[in-house]
Amino acid sequence: MIPFNKPYLTGEEITYIQASLEAGKISGNGPYTQKCEHFFEEKLPGSKCLLTTSCTDALEMCAILADIYPGDEVILPSYTFVSTALAFVRQGAKIVFADSRPDLPGLDETKIEALVTPRTKAIVVVHYAGVACDMDVVMAIAEKYGLVVIEDAAQAVDSFYKGRPLGSIGHMSAFSFHETKNIQCGEGGMLVVNDEHLKKRAEIVWEKGTNRAEFFRGEVNKYGWVDLGSSFLPAEYVAACLWAQLEHFEQIQSRRKAIWERYYRGLQSVPHVRLPQLPDYSTHNGHIFYLLCRSQEERAELINYLKVRGIHSVFHYLSLHKSTFMAKSGGGGPELPYADFYTDCLLRLPFFYELKDEEIDYIVKCINDFYLQKA
Ligand SMILES: *Cc1c(COP(=O)(O)O)cnc(C)c1O
Repeated sequence: MIPFNKPYLTGEEITYIQASLEAGKISGNGPYTQKCEHFFEEKLPGSKCLLTTSCTDALEMCAILADIYPGDEVILPSYTFVSTALAFVRQGAKIVFADSRPDLPGLDETKIEALVTPRTKAIVVVHYAGVACDMDVVMAIAEKYGLVVIEDAAQAVDSFYKGRPLGSIGHMSAFSFHETKNIQCGEGGMLVVNDEHLKKRAEIVWEKGTNRAEFFRGEVNKYGWVDLGSSFLPAEYVAACLWAQLEHFEQIQSRRKAIWERYYRGLQSVPHVRLPQLPDYSTHNGHIFYLLCRSQEERAELINYLKVRGIHSVFHYLSLHKSTFMAKSGGGGPELPYADFYTDCLLRLPFFYELKDEEIDYIVKCINDFYLQKA
């Protein structure tokens, strides 16, 4: 069986985890945490990076930092992971769902402005499969109405919008290092703060609402409770595990991008199937490879066809506007035809570092055979 995902280990994880345990500094914000943060601060010039225990946590920090209070409205796509919405719901926000684009699962930036009301506080964009949302358009709307922009960059490590790294464009962004992501440490994440005014407060929210970080830098002579916050720091051994991956960042990324390209070339001439599109302003980062089937029935047939041939493919999000939680909280929601389309028709193919060229070619051949038999 070719699995859908297999977390890649570089082999150094255990070495650094052991070193972190033996160093006697096991809680958060130690040397490995700082190495990881500096690594990303070099990739995202001008940004402040704080490791968190998950992307969900980083999004919760964004909701606190954006001053979301009960009754505030937050615009975000329906076709996304639960956490994109959940982090804001926890602060009492009303979620206003935007549809996906006809050509991309990411949110349709042309639909945002009509959703803005006097209560709107923030826009959360999701760079699905590491493909950028049209950030110039989003930032212009935010500027016009005084809104905060948060990038859910969980899938967007090492991807670019008009040459700018994703995660560095909105006021804040959140990355994930969950085992299903390109760079992983089991469970992990990172908050990125781009807005100068939010940097100091981010550190306080990160450290349970205390000004502990300032104290340790010698900027204040005692520390205490000064703001909202929670326990968002990962332990040092988690950062140590992440560091092992970051040392192999280029190697991991170059293989993953090659896998994406091989799928793309192989599947280009298969009839009836739509491949992912890249707008000219975005790169891809070898995170997800998906197909768009013509119907939910066809997708179910293809999943089964691949399964009996030893290939594990999966569908992705169930649109949040149709979730049980939203129904319970009284938000039946509007019709979002494209979110429904991706919910029904998007199929993800096996994608992991150790996937072999022969396996990719075999998967491509099976998909080709499936559609030839349909023709
Ligand atoms: C993976 C993912 C998350 C959640 O990441 P965790 O690190 O598991 O909290 C959030 N949003 C998107 C778009 C994701 O893909």
